Amino acid sequence: MLLDVRKVYPNLSRRQFSPAFGRLASRVFFGATLLVLSAPLYWQIALSARNTVASQTLPPSATPAAPGSSATTPQSAPAPRPAPNNFPSNIQNNVLNTVVLDPAHGGTDLGARGTAGIRESEVVLEFAAQIRRALEAQGLNVVQTRLGDENPSFDDRSAIANAQRGAVFVTIHISSTGLPGTARVYVNSDLPTPTEPSGLIPWDQAQFSFLGLSRKFGDAVQGLLAQRFKGSPNTAQTAAVRQLRTTAAPAIAVEISSVTVEKREDLDRMASGVADAIARGVVAFKPSYVVPVAPALGQTSPMASVGTPPPNGIPKGATR
Ligand SMILES: [Zn+2]
Repeated sequence: MLLDVRKVYPNLSRRQFSPAFGRLASRVFFGATLLVLSAPLYWQIALSARNTVASQTLPPSATPAAPGSSATTPQSAPAPRPAPNNFPSNIQNNVLNTVVLDPAHGGTDLGARGTAGIRESEVVLEFAAQIRRALEAQGLNVVQTRLGDENPSFDDRSAIANAQRGAVFVTIHISSTGLPGTARVYVNSDLPTPTEPSGLIPWDQAQFSFLGLSRKFGDAVQGLLAQRFKGSPNTAQTAAVRQLRTTAAPAIAVEISSVTVEKREDLDRMASGVADAIARGVVAFKPSYVVPVAPALGQTSPMASVGTPPPNGIPKGATR
């Protein structure tokens, strides 16, 4: 299951979900609402960073500008920032170094199910273990949204990614359709330009600023998957993917076909190739991932791709 339910049922609102769940669900709902309501605060700070950067013309070697706020001291900073309108010069600390790996579904959500009893929620967990090893072999940190049979919410999973700095996000699915033995990468379809009068980027549109980088990342991974798994597309596809929409990082969904194989081994033997393609895709994408220092504690700026002069020019689609 990959599609954004909001796109399929555009009139569906959170409120329609809540009354049916009991007190416990109400508490969860309340917590999620707090999360959603508080999230735009991060983007407000990030947007001010974008505006600061955009108002300056910087040569590629210049230190990018930073938001000026005592409340935005980065987590790892040993001392307060002395220059309120400049990012620190240690931009090398802000390279891509982390992959947030999301085995989709879990818990009561089994995902797609095959006739042979194959459950998507179980298979993606085993794929994730192999992908993790391949990424770590490349020197990358890996953060998983779940390690066992839990089912974090979409927002919980995005929140894990959004709290990282220098991260990309990869969600793993097994499809119920498609030619068995192939794999596809999806990036989120275009999101409407945020129109909040305050300049906030809603949590709901956190992916907005990363669409260009996500596509570049997705194409890198898809190209490698196509080499390994014949019949796979050569470039990333676009779809309304709920999980990607709220993620403020270059983010892709990798969907492997399919749960309909007769034997589980037919899927299992794809895992090493998928892991290798993702790990090498991250490494290939790494030079494109040049971001300013995250302006808020533990947050990667959703405007990170905007206003930053990358060494080889603005990444494709990085600006609106
Ligand atoms: Zn799925």
